[in-house]
Amino acid sequence: MSIDKLLRELREKIEQAVPKNIKIKNIEFEGPMLIIYVQNPQELAESGDVVKKLAKDLRKRIIIRPDPKSLKPPQEAMEIIKKIVPEDAQITNFFFDEENGEVIIEAEKPGIVIGKQGVTLREIMKAVGWSPRVVRTPSIRSKTIENIRQFLLASRDERKEIMKRIGVRIHRGIIHEDKWVRVTFLGGSREVGRSCYLLQTPESRILIDCGVNVSNISQPPYLYIPEVQPLDSIDAVVITHAHLDHCGLVPLLYKYGYKGPIYLTPPTRDLMVLLQLDFIEVAGREGSVPYESATIREALRHTITLDYGVVTDIAPDIRLTFYNAGHILGSAIAHFHIGEGLYNIAFTGDFKFEKTRLFDRAETRFPRLEALIMEATYGGSEDFQPSRKEAEEKLIQVITDTINRGGKVLIPTFAVGRSQEVMIVLEEAIRSEKLPEVPVYLDGMIYEATAIHTAYPEYLNASLRDLIFHHGINPFISDSFVRVDSPSKRSEVIEDTSPSIILATSGMLNGGPVMEYFRTLAPDERNTIVFVGYQAEGTLGRRIQKGWKEVPFPVNGKREVITVNMSVETVDGFSGHSDRRQLMNYVRSLTSKPDKVITIHGDENKCIELASGIYKTYRIETRAPMNLETVRFV
Ligand SMILES: [Zn+2]
Ligand SMILES: [Zn+2]
Repeated sequence: MSIDKLLRELREKIEQAVPKNIKIKNIEFEGPMLIIYVQNPQELAESGDVVKKLAKDLRKRIIIRPDPKSLKPPQEAMEIIKKIVPEDAQITNFFFDEENGEVIIEAEKPGIVIGKQGVTLREIMKAVGWSPRVVRTPSIRSKTIENIRQFLLASRDERKEIMKRIGVRIHRGIIHEDKWVRVTFLGGSREVGRSCYLLQTPESRILIDCGVNVSNISQPPYLYIPEVQPLDSIDAVVITHAHLDHCGLVPLLYKYGYKGPIYLTPPTRDLMVLLQLDFIEVAGREGSVPYESATIREALRHTITLDYGVVTDIAPDIRLTFYNAGHILGSAIAHFHIGEGLYNIAFTGDFKFEKTRLFDRAETRFPRLEALIMEATYGGSEDFQPSRKEAEEKLIQVITDTINRGGKVLIPTFAVGRSQEVMIVLEEAIRSEKLPEVPVYLDGMIYEATAIHTAYPEYLNASLRDLIFHHGINPFISDSFVRVDSPSKRSEVIEDTSPSIILATSGMLNGGPVMEYFRTLAPDERNTIVFVGYQAEGTLGRRIQKGWKEVPFPVNGKREVITVNMSVETVDGFSGHSDRRQLMNYVRSLTSKPDKVITIHGDENKCIELASGIYKTYRIETRAPMNLETVRFV
């Protein structure tokens, strides 16, 4: 069916479904969304669940937009809104989102902007045409988020064209009679790093993740094989989460000819941009930049964000839904529904099957599931980790001992994930006086990554949200945390003789501000370095962890030998990955039992041991494929 015919049919159905007083001006596809332009959107908003029902009946994501002619220009609209809303609402920012016909009003007191039973909101909508959405002023401003919003707004015309083109492609209709489903493993199989998988049917090609091999940047996924060539034959790229081993090479796709969409959650988009910018900066210092910041922007222009649980057409025969993975902010299990009931397959990405300080445990309830492609980082038969509670107690004990002898505690962490988990544990320990009130310094990108966390409270678990919104305690903005954002501030922290706790990147001591701290703190036996994350073989972190008393250390291009007198501690149990028990329990807990489980994202023996453990315990067919293998499912 041609797209015009499809749109005509849809328009007829919509006009029959909405009340007679609603005037439809136009309908069109933008990416996977069906946009309905309405002359009087406020009347539609007031007529109950009509839109919700319509979305369900048509099985489309629907966005209602006011007829562009009825919208007041942003500057004028802003002045009008300021007059309508009482001053004590303390509006801090406006953001006009033309794609959704929304004006986002940021205020210290959102309740006042909304008014009794939404009366003020309705008044705003009538006066300016934009539909108002109110958000609380974030407690920490994120520069990344502000830059991304501005960039998307500035490139709205280009984006509109891109989304129209994508919309036409998604709705091109099904042409093949054959039915089959297969996955080709392009990277991240029997290894950790460069995750990249191709899901393919006769109609469509979907790429899931496109990551960096962190220990060898010059080894990308196998993107040159015919299955993914030319790159623009790919319909969609789906990103599970923002860690670079999953999204670090996404911009490279655009450099080599891909022009399609990237589907991800809103926090993944923001964290991805933050980490990619840092990645090319660090790579640039070593003289090997895989792509430029302009390419990151090009990729950003093609992003389509989806919240958890939203079902979306991404190809003629494939629907995508994201579910919480519990690993880092915005991390998702990507579930694909193929061919109107033909097959269902889910990629877990990295996931944690245990409630943590920040997130609920990974989702196990899928409407249907025939195949699961799961990570196996800690899939070995001996890979058991202590519980969170034990880990937290040990961390507090190590810190207490160090403070009591007048030392400093250095905790190397990744900017995203472990840092915020550890921050929440420390804040609570200080608040409940389990730890004395010592400053906790945050160096590297930790502060900015934390700011992004505070902008997405709906992605945190219920207990943390409750603490923030109902008890007024936002652990992220505690006075105990001190941001270190300059070399002079860093020297101050190091030279200060009183005890303190320092969280700094990078997590495995292969660069970043943690290096400077380590160099100066290592010789003093009162200090402690605490490892809370995985230390890969070959990294400085791994050597220190193994107990090397003298370590070679790069200083200004030369090698120095550092004597390690500080005490070296490892606290396991803070990992964002599921351990062996959790991986096994996850498969057992799935409400819809898969017929096939594929293990990836782990060293060779971990993938094989997990596959064999699942087969022996549950009698489910399993495989641990190698890179470049293809597995057929239907
Ligand atoms: Zn990860
Ligand atoms: Zn990973």
